[in-house]
Amino acid sequence: MITMDDIVREGNPILEEVAKEVALPATEQDSATLHEMLEFLKNSQDQEIAEKYQLRPGVGIAAPQIGLSKRMIAIHFEDFDGNFYSDGLFNPRIVSHSVEKTFLSSGEGCLSVDREIQGYVPRYARITVKAINLAGEPIKLRLRGYAAVVLQHEIDHLNGLMFYDYINENNPFLKPDNAKPCDVD
Ligand code: ZN
Repeated sequence: MITMDDIVREGNPILEEVAKEVALPATEQDSATLHEMLEFLKNSQDQEIAEKYQLRPGVGIAAPQIGLSKRMIAIHFEDFDGNFYSDGLFNPRIVSHSVEKTFLSSGEGCLSVDREIQGYVPRYARITVKAINLAGEPIKLRLRGYAAVVLQHEIDHLNGLMFYDYINENNPFLKPDNAKPCDVD
């Protein structure tokens, strides 16, 4: 099983690379790895298992975060509207996005970042993502708010970007233009 010892931390060059496309249909090994990534997220949200193995809770993980330069991400979370997302995605891509932005007023965190970094991370308020899922089916996800933020955070890892790259250096809490927070009314 994947534990925090397997998680690559900031500063490791693999987190700054553009990850490679996964050849599809996925090999058994790639599928198994993506399954394990999803399993890690489930474990990390299970209080007993998380405590036992000292896992930090995560809602998403990208393959570069376990040292693999491949375009694979896993997600496991419920958004504020009660929609549940739990799957592994091969070669996810954002095919369209809104002009409006959003951000989490509580900021973002990352399994690969052990320090707390405060500030607003501007994200598109709505995105459409296409990918091949763990079952090998092409899927199209229309996402808004929190779900859109999570997917943008994870897909960024496939492009060598970290959440703090977007935070305004001079004024971390400057409200992004054309943006409303998605975690408060
Ligand atoms: Zn992250």
